[in-house]
Amino acid sequence: MLRHLPLFALFSALFLSSCSSTGFTGFSYDPEGVEDTSDRETFPQYYRTIGFSGDAVWFSNEYDGSRMNDVYRIGPDHYRVVIDPENKPINNSPWYGFKVWSDRPAGITVELEYPESRQRYYPKISSDKKNWSPLNASRYENRGSEQLGILNLELQDDTLWVSAQEIQTTTSFAGWLDGKKSKPFVSSQTVGYSHKGRPVKLVKIAESSPEPIKGVVILYGRQHPPEVPGYMVNLIFMETLAEDTELAQNFRRYFDVWAFPMMNPDGADEGHWRHNAGGIDLNRDWHSFNQPETRAVRDALLPLKHRTNRRVFYGIDFHSTSSNIFYPIEHGTKTFPLHFTYDWADRIIDEMPDLDMRVLPYDTSSPIAKNWTYHTFGADAVTFEVYDEIDRDLLRKLGQRSANIFMEKMIDAYRNELKLTVDTLPD
Ligand SMILES: [Zn+2]
Repeated sequence: MLRHLPLFALFSALFLSSCSSTGFTGFSYDPEGVEDTSDRETFPQYYRTIGFSGDAVWFSNEYDGSRMNDVYRIGPDHYRVVIDPENKPINNSPWYGFKVWSDRPAGITVELEYPESRQRYYPKISSDKKNWSPLNASRYENRGSEQLGILNLELQDDTLWVSAQEIQTTTSFAGWLDGKKSKPFVSSQTVGYSHKGRPVKLVKIAESSPEPIKGVVILYGRQHPPEVPGYMVNLIFMETLAEDTELAQNFRRYFDVWAFPMMNPDGADEGHWRHNAGGIDLNRDWHSFNQPETRAVRDALLPLKHRTNRRVFYGIDFHSTSSNIFYPIEHGTKTFPLHFTYDWADRIIDEMPDLDMRVLPYDTSSPIAKNWTYHTFGADAVTFEVYDEIDRDLLRKLGQRSANIFMEKMIDAYRNELKLTVDTLPD
């Protein structure tokens, strides 16, 4: 089986030389200077519990994943909560999160105030920090012109959690991972540390296989802390690849999965809007690699270039935004496999019309994870964006269905692109 090796070496060399600086200066929604990824100062929130004895109402941000920079009373049972980012400039993804309770049953009004931004995420509430539901529409108003979000909350002496999205921190990630590691082919390792010393984890789904060459699928996630729906789809996607179905078993015969679901652990735990603790958008650091989190992931992946028994086939970078959208590599670029993203997206759109999923191709010049995957391995890749407010049942369906279609099509790609090449080479 060693006869195919020179082909791989040639392919790798071709893509080694194609990575260069491109003069990227940010997407339309990026703040100025986003391409300079050297450290900037960040301003942590103060963690405290604040009580208003007249109303017997209490607010607190003393938990991981919170964001409440200040709170003050503007009238009886009427409060203003101030929400600031970790640093500026920054784009408009204002994360917020606090807990609130009252010594007596009370209806209160909370105004979320964004001094230099505007309300974006629809409020979610929970009484146990695990099960979340959107605040009733009659109790919420997004007063964009005044940079306010107005919430009417019913309080008891039990804590009510209010948050931009479900709270998903490094602790919840560790709990999820512990559950998955009961499967013998799921493992994890620490590949580096964040600015503040939190581990950056690589999770592998890798089953022993008779195949001499296995494909590798790379999953990136949670570069942007508030993009929890993208993170949740990533985890459901992984769960589906690790299932005991015939399809998933077959997939694992041909493919390993290397996943980094929690790339910005400081941002997730400290309630950041977008950046890491170095004050930088990690998904603009894939040319310069100034940040420890991106460097850790890069250094974990680079050895794959030189492994003769592994071949990177695909990369997915999970995010969330204002709609369900796939950003593929533009059609004219010769990826391996060719045009996989378009074929995959067509099937998802066909089978899940409720998603209203769009496909918007880009060139490969920007310093983002998807493009690094292509320039480093020649592989096709996608930025997989989930709608911020997607119905959570539909989110689960999307994670499962997209993974099942993905596995079918990847196995086809393996057979077409790899096995065929191997089998037809002369002795
Ligand atoms: Zn994002």
